Amino acid sequence: MGTTSTTQLAIDGGAPVLQRSDYRNWPVFTDDDRRLVNEVLDSGIVAGGTAPQVAALEKEWAEYIGTQQALTTCSGTAALHMALAAVGVGPGDEVIVPAFTFLASASCALHQNAIPIFVDIDPRTYCMDPAKIEAAITERTKALIPVHIQGCPADLDPMLAIAKKYNLAVIEDACQAHGATYKGKKVGGLGDIGCFSLNNFKNLSGGEGGLFNTNSEFYLNKGILIRCFGDEVDEVSHRRVYNASILGYMYRNQELPAAHARAQLLHLDENNAVRIANANYLTQELAKIPGIIPPYCPEDCTHVYFMYNVRFDPKAAGVDCETRRFRIAIEKALYKEGVLVGQWQTMPVPQQDLFQSMLGYGGTRHPWAINEAKGVTYNYDTAQFPVAVGLCDSYTVVHGVHAPNGRELMDRILEAFHKVFANLDVVIAHADDEIYPGADGKLYGAG
Ligand SMILES: *Cc1c(COP(=O)(O)O)cnc(C)c1O
Repeated sequence: MGTTSTTQLAIDGGAPVLQRSDYRNWPVFTDDDRRLVNEVLDSGIVAGGTAPQVAALEKEWAEYIGTQQALTTCSGTAALHMALAAVGVGPGDEVIVPAFTFLASASCALHQNAIPIFVDIDPRTYCMDPAKIEAAITERTKALIPVHIQGCPADLDPMLAIAKKYNLAVIEDACQAHGATYKGKKVGGLGDIGCFSLNNFKNLSGGEGGLFNTNSEFYLNKGILIRCFGDEVDEVSHRRVYNASILGYMYRNQELPAAHARAQLLHLDENNAVRIANANYLTQELAKIPGIIPPYCPEDCTHVYFMYNVRFDPKAAGVDCETRRFRIAIEKALYKEGVLVGQWQTMPVPQQDLFQSMLGYGGTRHPWAINEAKGVTYNYDTAQFPVAVGLCDSYTVVHGVHAPNGRELMDRILEAFHKVFANLDVVIAHADDEIYPGADGKLYGAG
């Protein structure tokens, strides 16, 4: 290959900087996974709300987060729904949620016949902006759901103060932030209930599953009931009595996912340290390239980089191009260089069809109709969330910061960024090429 092949962009016919084989997949399996999964097979016990792996995971996870109790669930979505049910959110109640998150942070409210009210995000952390919460509170507001987005802790102190002032429950959606800390304390242990996901993509994998953390005996007991049909268990015989005392669901986890999660928990801190080292290195180097805005970590916080988010600013890059088009062009050029990049959420959650149509249960106007009948109006116009809209125009996710990837891969990724940013005219000329950036499922253990 001549010298031109290394400088000519791959999108323009040159050789790519890196290959898919330069990336190693997540999650990282060790002998601990094999040992604990074998324990399950040897035990002959595969399920049960108080089965040995499930019970051990609950104890170990409560200790890790620093809460008195934890429950395992079949998903993070289930944990969130359980949490809203446990704090008593019901029909017509309103629940405050950030505009930039995953759908489940908001659909858990709908599943309790409650109505999500979205609040715009902070322009640096991308978490819910505490300064915008009070304006969204009404006499119907029952709960706040701060989301520690992409591994970055939300600014909880002002949120906890607002919650206290208005008597709201705080349910932390920590599904993307296992091990992240806010002022020295683990997130997911600071609100009334903290919820985590154990899906294969997340910093702590169980394959699938979720966790529900609380210091409240009351919420714990409610959670136990809700997790298993609302069914009471006889205190003396410990047998289910098949008499549901409240409305519940079927949100139990099982032994194999719990065993896998316990093995992963043994390595969570070291795997988070790899993400942090990779992210900090990318941030230090990418900050030198005009037009790239690396992620921000607030002081007194630990960001655990579930996702490594970068934004692009065409003006700062010295290019006359609309932001969204610039981001798409950069994504395509990087992807052709072999960099696994691509957006996660492509729009703020309230922009999704479900909220724009407000058609819920059975394709009807429920649950919104509960309050509309009383003259309340709802509006998910995205003009209310300019920061989230701006983020969705300008950001992409750089995949591969997870262990066991390290400095070598980060250097190749940086080389590709430099190559692309040194040839922005060519990049923009290819903005309409039919290229579909993103990561394959295998990178995160998904089939
Ligand atoms: C993953 C995720 C969830 C849902 O977790 P599942 O285990 O996939 O149900 C909820 N909220 C956020 C922010 C998430 O990233």
